Formats: sequence, structure tokens, C-alpha cells
Amino acid sequence: MNTYSTDSTSKQYSALKSLKCVFCNEDKPLDAFSENQIAKATYNPYTSPSHNKKFKTVTCKKCTSSPNTHLTCMICAKTQPLEKFAKLQRRNAEKARCMKCIKKREEEDVWATESDTESEEEFDFLS
Ligand SMILES: [Zn+2]
Ligand SMILES: [Zn+2]
Repeated sequence: MNTYSTDSTSKQYSALKSLKCVFCNEDKPLDAFSENQIAKATYNPYTSPSHNKKFKTVTCKKCTSSPNTHLTCMICAKTQPLEKFAKLQRRNAEKARCMKCIKKREEEDVWATESDTESEEEFDFLS
């Protein structure tokens, strides 16, 4: 009895059949990854269009369910050990940026407008 009618969701990722987990370094079927991870592998709204064309690193459910010793950088989409993130970033896990990306941003000033957006968001949140 194959009564799956989830075509609308599976179509979206039709190009992807498997993803490689950066932790266990294995190619796994999509259902081994959370929707978040799959979305990350397909499109990241926080990063540049050129970055979106690059291969993304994702982590399988098994590895993401491990204790909270890692964070995922919202810019490069890499899951890395906590020591790669500043303490301030660790507190804001959902919007964490790794030190490398923060440094890159300082050097290139590409993300200069982003901090404005962020403070606006926080203001909206408070009001
Ligand atoms: Zn894994
Ligand atoms: Zn990063």
C-alpha cells in the first residue's frame, strides 16, 4: 500500500537524492536529514547568490541530535564546534556566525548592511 501523496514536497528536492553528512562523512538518503538541513542544502537566504550555487555542508539527524557541542553558521551553513564561534554567537544559536565569516565580513564589508536589518528586527520584536 503505497499511498504517499507528498509529491509537492518531494518535487522541490527532486534534484537531490542524497546528501553528505559532514560529521559522519557518509552519503545518506534525504530522509536521514531534517527539513532544515535539506533547505540549507538547497537555498540559504542569508548568504549571497554565488554561495548558494556552491555545495552545502549538512548534518544528518543522527549527528544533529548529538549533544549541543556544535553550531551551524547561518552564513557559510557549516556546522562547526562551539570553539569556532564567539561566545556571543553561541547564545544566539539560530543566528550564529562562525568566527571565519565574521572576520570575512569585517575584511570585505560585504555584509555591512546586515547589522542594520538585525537591529530593526530586534526593535520590531520588542515593540
Ligand atoms: Zn551524520
Ligand atoms: Zn561561517
